[in-house]
Amino acid sequence: MAFADILGHDRIVEVLRRSLRNGKTAHSYLFEGVSGCGRKKTALALIQALFCTVLPDDACGECPSCRKIAGGNHPDIHLIAPLPDKRDISIEQLRELQHDLALRPYEAPRKACIIDPAERMSVSAANSLLKTLEEPPGNALIILLTENAGMLLSTVRSRCQVIRFAPLSPEHMLLLLEKGGMASEAAALVAPMSGGSLQRAMELDNEALTSRREAVLSRVSQLNINQIATVFDASEELSGNRDATLELLDMLLSFFRDAVHLGAGTGDIVNRTVRPAIESIAAKRSLPRNLELLERIYDTRRAVQRNANPKLALDNLFMTIAAVR
Ligand SMILES: [Zn+2]
Repeated sequence: MAFADILGHDRIVEVLRRSLRNGKTAHSYLFEGVSGCGRKKTALALIQALFCTVLPDDACGECPSCRKIAGGNHPDIHLIAPLPDKRDISIEQLRELQHDLALRPYEAPRKACIIDPAERMSVSAANSLLKTLEEPPGNALIILLTENAGMLLSTVRSRCQVIRFAPLSPEHMLLLLEKGGMASEAAALVAPMSGGSLQRAMELDNEALTSRREAVLSRVSQLNINQIATVFDASEELSGNRDATLELLDMLLSFFRDAVHLGAGTGDIVNRTVRPAIESIAAKRSLPRNLELLERIYDTRRAVQRNANPKLALDNLFMTIAAVR
């Protein structure tokens, strides 16, 4: 894993490479960000660069150390996660880790470990780690991964250099999915709805998503302010719990963003498989009106996130969309 393979986190990569060149990497890092945004890849790239015998601030990919890391079998790297069937990372696991870190490295200049997800350390486990974070034995490199640094003991946080990872942008997600072999149509479908998490993108079930998308488009195209039932039927059918409604709103955002692109004549849209339906959204209203609706969908999304009733929020939104102007 070379730094060039990390997408969407250029500034973080730059900071890490500079610290490698200056020999000033921290003992302990806390990488915070949504699961699947590239934290673990970056952690591995950092370790690989640190261990690489050829390059000072990146992985060469060729030396024995780089090859072992790529093959997932470098003896000086420890990955700590909850054991199968266990919720938490136990104090025993951390004691064993501390024992291992204290031993001389087999071949690398120092040992390294990744603890993922760090918020799953039990309180006693986390407490046992404090001294290690401050002064890792044998100058070991420790990288904690978390979705939410607020879930960690403040004493753990304060002993680490905290690096915050932003969710991946839809464009980077698209690239990453296509690089990973997903068909570009499918990638275009799930990228805008993944919330910047590769994991989430993979989880989204394409087939279910396709039929859901068609149902949404069909309801939206039928909205008619003179037949008020079309509004309430749509929100009845499409609203669900908060998460389902947020997903629906992400979908609407993606549709209206595309409609705005079409209206503005840029032509390049994400939802290519349903282009005719998007074209009809774009043609039905003026560009300023579609921009206004895009803004309304954003507002609705924020409101639902802040606990607004999903069904009522959709009633209002669909009413506004139905009032073609
Ligand atoms: Zn190398």
